[in-house]
Amino acid sequence: MKGIIMCCVAMLPAFEISGCAQRNSLPPVAINSPTPAPQYSPQVAKPVPGAPLFTTPPTIAVEPLAIEPQNPWKPEAEVRDWEYIVIHHTASSTGSVESIHDLHSKKKDKSGNSWLGIGYHFVIGNGNGMPDGAIESTFRWREQMHGAHAGNNKYNQHGIGICLVGNFENEPPTDAQLAAVKKLVGVLKAEYNITSDHVQGHRDVKATACPGKYFPMSEVASAVDLPVYGATSPAGTNPASKMELAYQK
Ligand SMILES: [Zn+2]
Repeated sequence: MKGIIMCCVAMLPAFEISGCAQRNSLPPVAINSPTPAPQYSPQVAKPVPGAPLFTTPPTIAVEPLAIEPQNPWKPEAEVRDWEYIVIHHTASSTGSVESIHDLHSKKKDKSGNSWLGIGYHFVIGNGNGMPDGAIESTFRWREQMHGAHAGNNKYNQHGIGICLVGNFENEPPTDAQLAAVKKLVGVLKAEYNITSDHVQGHRDVKATACPGKYFPMSEVASAVDLPVYGATSPAGTNPASKMELAYQK
């Protein structure tokens, strides 16, 4: 088979689960008795004879704030020529950036060279190995490197690889994961001028079930970045309608 399927590993190590770890108990908090509030005798303002009861406050010119759309994932490295976003699932119930990195580091390419490590640019947790809905970038995103996720050179070179932990052949992503991937896709589309039809599931670029039949691909592909308060919308667009679109089912 041409290429290497990286996302569809049957099982990922379960050692990442730390939900049962016992937390250290916190030291007791000393609560001071409240300081009595100072008492003031009530005073009633009396109008000065002849003075106006109300004055108009002076007008203050306020410069409108120039708020740029937020991109919390802006890399410091020079941005690569991105054209696509490719969505994957781990096909496992648990996983994290670290566990996927360990798994991928043990793999070799067709020439026998070890993989550099995790092949995706972003991973979104499901609460088992990573917090539910947490978005974590990898070294490939920070260093703006090509991906190793699509099994297709064009999409590896120009596609941003996003992997959600879970097996969406069996169940849908969690609500937090869905909100997270829509936010991430919306920001990346806006930032790098990627159109909705270039947001694809792995199965659209290679013969695989990834990211699973329960992943709402068209809903995620059409996600848009949420409007920022105070930002000026382009003529003819309504931020409210963008908001509706972002959460359209
Ligand atoms: Zn995949």
